[in-house]
Amino acid sequence: MNLRIPGPVTIPQEILDVMDHQMIDHRGPQFAAIQARVVKNLQTCFQTKNDVLLFTSSGTGGLESAIVNTLSPGDPVLAFVAGEFGERIAAIAATYGSNVTKIKFENGQGIDPDRVAQELKNAPQTKAVLVTHNETSTGIMHPLKEISHAVRANSDAVLIVDGVSSMLTADAQVDNWGIDVMVSASQKAWACPPGVAIVSISDRAWKAHANAKMPRFYFDWTETKKWLEKGQTPFTPAVSVYYALDLALERILEEGLPNVFARHAHIAALTREQAKQLGFRMFGDERYASNAVTALYAPDGVDTEALRKAAREEYDLIIGGGQGPMRGKIIRIGHLGWVKEQEIYDCFAAIGHILEKVAA
Ligand code: PLP
Repeated sequence: MNLRIPGPVTIPQEILDVMDHQMIDHRGPQFAAIQARVVKNLQTCFQTKNDVLLFTSSGTGGLESAIVNTLSPGDPVLAFVAGEFGERIAAIAATYGSNVTKIKFENGQGIDPDRVAQELKNAPQTKAVLVTHNETSTGIMHPLKEISHAVRANSDAVLIVDGVSSMLTADAQVDNWGIDVMVSASQKAWACPPGVAIVSISDRAWKAHANAKMPRFYFDWTETKKWLEKGQTPFTPAVSVYYALDLALERILEEGLPNVFARHAHIAALTREQAKQLGFRMFGDERYASNAVTALYAPDGVDTEALRKAAREEYDLIIGGGQGPMRGKIIRIGHLGWVKEQEIYDCFAAIGHILEKVAA
């Protein structure tokens, strides 16, 4: 199968193999050693000295933890939204009673850092700013460095970044850029199975946490940190996913972060080039084209859902469709994790055959 959705991604064989191990006591020394290594290596990947906490959940759980641990009901929050995942984190904040103002950008556009600066100047009481680094629904990687700078220059608000699908695919310097909470998830570029959310927490975020009154239990940061310091987790962790993360992180750091970013940029460029050769058009602003996923309009007259169905049934090629208002209008090709050039060539060879048949 050629799995070209933007996560979960194909897992390298040696990482699959390492999960084929017996369970261990999650309150024993072996688990403590694994967790300590995983956290330390994640700090390196996040380019941070901040605490990194792990939760057995999907990425959305990590995002929910960020909201409920830093805010109180009624707190003013600015959410910069340019797609379905921007909508989701805004919805989490609203669900728990934040006073959310959504600043919307058109789907496919990049979030404008000048607008971020202006909005914060107009709303100095803002307690948290919500930004999605890579908007998986539109294939846009927002300019996080500039956005973070705009936030830090104009506000003391907690900057919460959804980095679920961006981390590892591009540079994201949590400490240098002043990102208070960064969230990712094991099934994205980490190339592990779903099951672990990763959350980094700055001093500013911990200070906000000390006064945050939103209800929480499973995702409580204080409790999770207390158990982490004992080498454990408050609740039963997804032990096998920890085995996978442990080895995946070793491989990622052997390769080196700049090489990992460059590899993602290269595969993304190859994907765009191959797509254009077949007559696809980029859905969004190409200046912000994502290293993780490419969103495309099909050539005129091609039904995207029929294309996806033929790819699945005839070529065992699985490609993403549009989400929300983009449903039925675009396709999305995922290219995060350890993607080989050949997988991209095979993907577009299959799509080329399908288009030929449609034209015939
Ligand atoms: N945020 C972004 C940017 C994502 O791409 C995803 C998943 O695709 C999520 C959040 C949600 O993650 P999960 O499905 O792991 O809860």
